[in-house]
Amino acid sequence: MNESDTSRHFLRQWIEKDVAEGKTGGKVVTRFPPEPNGYIHIGHAKAVCVDFGMAKLFDGECHLRLDDTNPAKESDEYAENIKRDIRWLGFQWAGEGDGVEPGFYNASNMFDKMYEIAEKLIEKGYAYCCNLTQEEWKEYRGVPEKPGRPSPNRETSPERNLEIFREMKAGKYADGEWCLRAKIDMASPNIHFRDPVIYRIRHASHYHLGDKWCIYPMYDFAHPIEDALEGVTHSMCTLEFEVHRPLYDWVVDRLDEFGMLVERGGVKIRPQQREFARLNITYTVMSKRLLLKLVEEGRVSGWDDPRMPTVCGMRRRGYTPGAIREFCDRVGISKVESESDPALLEWCVREELNKTALRRMAVLDPVKVVIDNFEGTREVELPNNPIDESQGTRKIVFGKEIWIERSDFQEEPDKKFFRMAPGKEVRLRGACIFKCNSVVKDDTGKVQEIHGTWDENSWGGNAADGRKIKGTIHWVDCATGKKARICLYDRLFTEKDPLKDGPERYLEYLNKDSLKEVEGFVEPLLDEAAQGQSFQFERIGYFVADGRVSASGQAVFNRTVTLKDSYKPA
Ligand code: ATP
Ligand code: MG
Repeated sequence: MNESDTSRHFLRQWIEKDVAEGKTGGKVVTRFPPEPNGYIHIGHAKAVCVDFGMAKLFDGECHLRLDDTNPAKESDEYAENIKRDIRWLGFQWAGEGDGVEPGFYNASNMFDKMYEIAEKLIEKGYAYCCNLTQEEWKEYRGVPEKPGRPSPNRETSPERNLEIFREMKAGKYADGEWCLRAKIDMASPNIHFRDPVIYRIRHASHYHLGDKWCIYPMYDFAHPIEDALEGVTHSMCTLEFEVHRPLYDWVVDRLDEFGMLVERGGVKIRPQQREFARLNITYTVMSKRLLLKLVEEGRVSGWDDPRMPTVCGMRRRGYTPGAIREFCDRVGISKVESESDPALLEWCVREELNKTALRRMAVLDPVKVVIDNFEGTREVELPNNPIDESQGTRKIVFGKEIWIERSDFQEEPDKKFFRMAPGKEVRLRGACIFKCNSVVKDDTGKVQEIHGTWDENSWGGNAADGRKIKGTIHWVDCATGKKARICLYDRLFTEKDPLKDGPERYLEYLNKDSLKEVEGFVEPLLDEAAQGQSFQFERIGYFVADGRVSASGQAVFNRTVTLKDSYKPA
């Protein structure tokens, strides 16, 4: 199969086959199971596109399930933002739900059920309580090449195990003193199959259930139960779970044995797990733990700092849901770990914004131009988007004094410089032809003001006699233009792999120049831009209105992406 053919990837073929064989009972059900212990990032966005995307493709349902089986570090703030970000990406959960809203589940709502199943496993001799220390447990488990050693507790009677398990639940023991293990196979070459821990003691408050529980189910036990009881047919996750799959199937087998699998359309639903390679992007980190540290240490302004690889950060940066989905699609679904270039994501953003973003003029590093022979004001009418007439036009005032970019002027121009220079003519976008005659400098020799004249027969920008003007530059009228604060973002890290020396040292590779703030001038219309509205600042790049107002009362714009790049997707 062609892995790069994203529309026919192996997950799709897998589901297609099951549908054809009638295994789904008439409905494909998937799930996206984030842990509410941070904001979701572009890696999660990839999983969202896969999980929700596959459900959509097969006219099925994708559940949003908060995998809140870990009492520490989870919160409703995270949960709410995960929901908001998934919706923003363009997806909506559906299905029955566990009471709060359709399609929405909390793993913690199944704790009673999981406990019940654990007791059943004990009764049937499928699980036992174990009091080996973590070190002993590891040592007994051994290495894949040699069979492990059985725990001294392995042959305890079900009655005694039940007694200990209930004591664990009642809070009689400290963290780590006892745990519940599945009794499977201490000789399996897959060490995850060697009597894995399925419940552990954890005296910690859960963000929803408080202190109701002091034992918590492990992921490998909880996940297949959640999938099975929700009626999930296809459970897709990242490659690191591949070695856990036999355990997933083992739990599903037990549920089947206990008659707990749900039925749909007369078919018993047996959830199955398949794995795909996670999304990695160079020049950033994606672990929630490492992102949280950036937030907590104030290295960034928050989870939604526009430099963060989080979905909310990208939204604030001006990336669009469509561009993010397109990126995930282009990266494709594979079984092989790889790294993606952030330039591909930027390319997707640029492609979309080129079609949709309104054109505006803004000057980021201003120098004043005085047109000595211009009196009064005139009006310039420019298209909002030259590649899409339906977006209409806008009118801008043009006056005697304008701002231009400092870099658009050279006192001693090199050969290929066709912008503003003494004695040379240049077109002022949409207005007229201008010729610079002199400059005013300050004590340090820095140009303060440029003086010149306009060709009075060139209104609109073309010379009446047809002579060619090579350069066109943008401008902002001094009298009507507005000051604005503009944030120029760059990569957050200077290293392709900030984790190359391990997770302790990634902060050393933070890019000190990843944020530059400048004060510029913008067309008056931009002063009223709505939060999240995207613009192309002509000749500069794509920017988004941040919605914030700077300390000095100016509108703030974030640079989404520069205008051009040499990058071309393969
Ligand atoms: P992190 O390590 O960044 O904290 P996580 O895997 O612990 O991520 P979860 O909230 O458990 O975060 O993840 C929810 C789902 O998102 C899981 O199914 C996981 O496989 C998937 N996921 C997480 N990171 C990526 C990634 N980089 N690429 C693809 N899928 C991912
Ligand atoms: Mg996780």
